[in-house]
Amino acid sequence: MGHIAYVGLGSNLADPATQVIQALAALDALPQTRLLKQSSLYRSAPVGYLDQPDFINAVAQVETGLTPRALLEALLALELECGRTREFQNAPRTLDLDVLMYDDLVHHEHGLTVPHPQMHLRAFVLQPLLEIAPDCIIPGVGVAADAMAGCTGQQLERLEHVAE
Ligand code: ADP
Ligand code: MG
Repeated sequence: MGHIAYVGLGSNLADPATQVIQALAALDALPQTRLLKQSSLYRSAPVGYLDQPDFINAVAQVETGLTPRALLEALLALELECGRTREFQNAPRTLDLDVLMYDDLVHHEHGLTVPHPQMHLRAFVLQPLLEIAPDCIIPGVGVAADAMAGCTGQQLERLEHVAE
């Protein structure tokens, strides 16, 4: 244990809210990992490829003994278990799980960039993150609340009474 990581969750197929809630439980069940905090669920409009359903997003804070690479591999395995296929970039997906941050690490290697390279541009990541970590500083980027202030025009709706 000992490392604090943030995981971004998203789904827009096959009962997305249920996908995200089950994925939160699955994070807690990963080896050497426990769920510390979970945000509310949020509904967001798709970006990039627009002709697809809205997304349900959330962010989780976990404590883990896994390395960043092992955590990413565990997340990708969970995505596969949930039947995700990668047809094209920004395609609809049953489940997307991203390593957003890992301690104060700034790291780039093949297939793994931490912090997640787009997180500071996405309201659907930043708003749930700020709910569970209001003072968050994104390593190498800056204050998460400032990044959120720059995400003008990105519609996001917090869902009530779903994740309880
Ligand atoms: P996105 O999440 O950007 O919509 P994908 O989920 O299809 O796209 O991710 C594509 C690849 O991004 C993954 O196979 C993974 O190797 C890579 N990747 C790099 N850094 C990260 C990260 N921090 N979290 C999740 N995936 C990452
Ligand atoms: Mg992803």
